[in-house]
Amino acid sequence: MTQTAVNPLVRMQEDLQRAMQKPLERRSWAMVIDTRKCIGCFACSVACVAENVSPPGVTYRTVLDIEIGRYPGVQRILKPMNCQQCENPPCVPAANEVAPGSMERRPDGIVVINYERARGREVFEAVRRACPYRLAVFFDDGRFHTDGTPARQAYEQRPALEYGRNWSRTQDQPPVNTVRKCHFCLHRLEAKMLPACVTTCIGGAMYFGDLNDPNSLVSQMLKEQRDKVMRVNESRGTKPRVYYLTDTPVLCKSHHP
Ligand code: SF4
Ligand code: SF4
Repeated sequence: MTQTAVNPLVRMQEDLQRAMQKPLERRSWAMVIDTRKCIGCFACSVACVAENVSPPGVTYRTVLDIEIGRYPGVQRILKPMNCQQCENPPCVPAANEVAPGSMERRPDGIVVINYERARGREVFEAVRRACPYRLAVFFDDGRFHTDGTPARQAYEQRPALEYGRNWSRTQDQPPVNTVRKCHFCLHRLEAKMLPACVTTCIGGAMYFGDLNDPNSLVSQMLKEQRDKVMRVNESRGTKPRVYYLTDTPVLCKSHHP
């Protein structure tokens, strides 16, 4: 009798349910992105914007299109990028120096922002300078996509649910005038749902789960494909929690804009 393969989304959902039964400090969240499956459609970015009701210019997730090597040995890699949830996040002390208590790394590995404290351009500039990934942090300057038109649209006035709160973007209230970035969709995890970019990826390139669980899909992928794994800018000692699978890990390791 042939065995039916379990859909990876179903498997990750089961992994998530198991992880959420453990105390927070015994979970270790990680994202695995298989660059060989990314088709560069930006569905993950759109899902992220919709999930977090991002204003103009704020996109926690982008997809880099990178060319590696020289003709005739040229290769292309599509690399989705969001906050790498570093184990040693240089952004945290940088932010806290300007605005004490504005950022922290949780025991489960997610680097979070306190929207009530991380306010003003000065904190944003400090975090941006400290972050080696550049694309990871954004500033909400209070604009709406439909500013200048007769009426703001309902889709950009609905609240964002980040950090388990109900954030309506109104002038001078957070997250307006606040530093923002990817949080591994923490509010969804707490509702036992996978991150929006993972469930939306039509190429099946995005994986998420608990590295403290040896039976989770992400743990098994990283173990079975260890010669394909790379992390971005590892030499900085940040220890990212986003892992990339690629057929050219050595080339990719050395290449980051
Ligand atoms: S990627 Fe940047 S913003 Fe995210 S944890 Fe690392 S240093 Fe901080
Ligand atoms: S995990 Fe959530 S916040 Fe982070 S890039 Fe994906 S959709 Fe955006």
